[in-house]
Amino acid sequence: MADRSPPSLPDLPILQFEEKIAETVEKNPVVVIIGETGSGKSTQLSQILHRRGYTKSGIVGVTQPRRVAAVSVARRVAQELGVKLGEEVGYAIRFEDRTSERTKIKYLTDGVLLRESLSNPELSEYSVIILDEAHERSLNTDILLGLMKRLVKIRSSKLRVLITSATLDGNKVSNFFSDCPVLNVPGKLYPVEIVYSRERPKSYLESSLRTALNIHVREPEGDVLIFMTGQDDIDKLVSKLEDEVLSLEEGSCMDAIILPLHGSLPPESQVRVFTPPPPNCRRFIVATNIAETSLTVDGVVYVIDSGYVKQRGYNPSTGMYSLDVVQVSKVQADQRAGRAGRTRPGKCYRLYPSTVYQDEFLDVTVPEIQRSSLTGSVLYLKSLDLSDIDILRFDFLDPPSHDSLEDALKQLYLIDAIDENGSITSIGQTMSELPLEPSLSRTLMEANEYGCLSQALTIAAMLSAETSLLPGRSKGTEKKRRHSPDLPDGSGLGDHIQLLQIYEQWDQTDYDIGWCKENNLQVRGMLFVKDVRKQLCQIMQKAAKGALDVRTSESRKERRDDYRNLRKALCVGFANQLAERMTLHNGYRTLGFKSQLVQVHPSSVLGTDEQGMYPDVVVYHELITTSRPFMRNVCVIDMKWVAPILRKLEKVNVNKLSGGYRQIEEGNDGKLAYLPKEDVSPAKALP
Ligand code: ADP
Repeated sequence: MADRSPPSLPDLPILQFEEKIAETVEKNPVVVIIGETGSGKSTQLSQILHRRGYTKSGIVGVTQPRRVAAVSVARRVAQELGVKLGEEVGYAIRFEDRTSERTKIKYLTDGVLLRESLSNPELSEYSVIILDEAHERSLNTDILLGLMKRLVKIRSSKLRVLITSATLDGNKVSNFFSDCPVLNVPGKLYPVEIVYSRERPKSYLESSLRTALNIHVREPEGDVLIFMTGQDDIDKLVSKLEDEVLSLEEGSCMDAIILPLHGSLPPESQVRVFTPPPPNCRRFIVATNIAETSLTVDGVVYVIDSGYVKQRGYNPSTGMYSLDVVQVSKVQADQRAGRAGRTRPGKCYRLYPSTVYQDEFLDVTVPEIQRSSLTGSVLYLKSLDLSDIDILRFDFLDPPSHDSLEDALKQLYLIDAIDENGSITSIGQTMSELPLEPSLSRTLMEANEYGCLSQALTIAAMLSAETSLLPGRSKGTEKKRRHSPDLPDGSGLGDHIQLLQIYEQWDQTDYDIGWCKENNLQVRGMLFVKDVRKQLCQIMQKAAKGALDVRTSESRKERRDDYRNLRKALCVGFANQLAERMTLHNGYRTLGFKSQLVQVHPSSVLGTDEQGMYPDVVVYHELITTSRPFMRNVCVIDMKWVAPILRKLEKVNVNKLSGGYRQIEEGNDGKLAYLPKEDVSPAKALP
């Protein structure tokens, strides 16, 4: 039965090109399709190919960089086709698979498709793969682009690949795929008037609020889309808008509905933005950059653009992540403005002067591959064991930096995923099959050796879902949870042990929902952890081919022993994330490839040690820079366990690790080029 009765099919620009698209796809293995956001790429292309018979010989798979887009678009397409979600039309995201034997159109995150290609390198069940939202240039999509190039050769006429994008440089991708055709789908975008601020506001939140209220009071009907940088600011603005709009004199303006929109909203709230408002009512949609291109909200006439976005960065020379609020690129600012002109002429209020746009904004957003840790991707590519692909010569649309490739190789060596010659080890092979970051996978394998896998799985699941455990993600709430007297305290051993204890306590209540509420833990988050844990357990069983020991609680050893073994396993898995106490500096010094001063994050349970004493040496889950470099999720370890790691650190030889490939020269484009060792003539080789 259908989720709902099918809506009338929308009149979307892409539908006028159905014939042309079908013809081009018929004749070419790879086609690039460029079309404005909202022109129907995500929802219609799969249906066009379905109508044209491509689902007879396999699945039409559509990748999305964002989980929420995969779910939302699949839901919409199921509705349009009048089928039940999960049957003919389904989706698969990490830890959630809603597909069945009958699924013909499958929306999935790019990460899930990468994973599928591990067990089925030719992706033989797909007749068509659409890499959607390629302009987002997510790390996984970039890797898929390289893999697809290879796959279309191997599967010749049996596979069709479509790459779609709102803003991407079509010619660049076309060149990458041997000059494949580029189809442009002209969108009907109405003119958008751009209104610049005279100067940057002191508080972009306040300024967004004032601008929104001005629009509400002065401008004719039409919804307002406001771009904020993150959930915290969205929540604040939503509540301020609610207060202020309610206090407006009744009858002075139309009704208003205020809706948040971000990736961690529960699905039922996400759906609300797709429901048209009642008559004489204006909607304010307060969103992250998810509304830039991933999700199209109809009815928007006014856009408020702060010019900022929250972006995760990674510095390979320090191993430090940062979550920075940075200026958007020109392409992003233009996309945001474009959202105002979909149904009629609109207005975009830019909360910055035009000179900032001209002089300060980058032309395009830096692709994720050039600002991410590549450890997971390098392990992935190594595990594919393709004789014709070496990571250092992998065909990237934009190659990552030399530093980040080297960083990844060193990290993988330190956690035994590759040997000193850069070849993947059997440990690495198993690790690559787990849908977790390499360090966590390694921890699980080590925990298995020590007989505490069951508890390590709990920790891994808790860490994977951590952000959705808390009612709000404000610093205050996080502190409250960590330091709540009713919750376990980690027995002085740190955050990982506390996370384990919290879950075990919940387990003892037989997963009582009331208990979560009493302890200020989000029910949805905890249920997610339970589900993730179960799935991880199954995946581990499969990956380790039965050599696993997920003990039940009855057969567990003495608890203190467990904690000790767990901490040892974490130390092995996170061997490059150790830090030693610096008594004089009131902080820690990291023991990795580059040493630096860091501090324990205030949310850590270790900050409340009774004597106020911090341990001598710790392992941390993540280094993150906010006001200062902080270690998040910290666990006490023993100096004795660190010595062998330090010895291994000293032995690292990057030249050997690169598997016989040496850096020989900088290419004309300033990028480093690599050649196999035997190709390096003495004159060209670096000293
Ligand atoms: P594009 O991929 O080109 O940006 P989409 O196919 O995502 O375009 O959007 C086409 C239309 O479908 C838009 O009008 C959008 O609002 C609508 N739409 C997309 N997803 C949903 C959904 N989950 N519910 C309702 N409408 C949707």
